[in-house]
Amino acid sequence: MEKRPVRFLLNTHWHYDHVGGNAVYGPEAIIVAQENVRKRLMTQQIPFWSRTAIGPSPERAWPVITFRDMLGIHFAGEDVELDHYANGHTDGDSVVHFAHANVVAVGDIFLGKASVISRC
Ligand SMILES: [Zn+2]
Repeated sequence: MEKRPVRFLLNTHWHYDHVGGNAVYGPEAIIVAQENVRKRLMTQQIPFWSRTAIGPSPERAWPVITFRDMLGIHFAGEDVELDHYANGHTDGDSVVHFAHANVVAVGDIFLGKASVISRC
């Protein structure tokens, strides 16, 4: 299989297990996220699951394209729509819909068990 570069990273929210690749791929890939994700990554955060502070993330990990409510990306024959779900798992959750593939990535909004609400 041909090794191709990562062109886009779509962050569904700011938690480290969802943005951990940003600093690795960020210099070359375009990082896209809801505007609150960028704000969270630019400043120190105290997550709901720990009293240990996280961040701020290095600048190369910050999203460079942000949106408030919705964003469309048309790339490589795919129509991708990111929709912000305010008051979800965090204040920056997005659901990503890949129209042609008929696939939805929901981040941590759906955990397969009782929802965890973050007050971060
Ligand atoms: Zn999360």
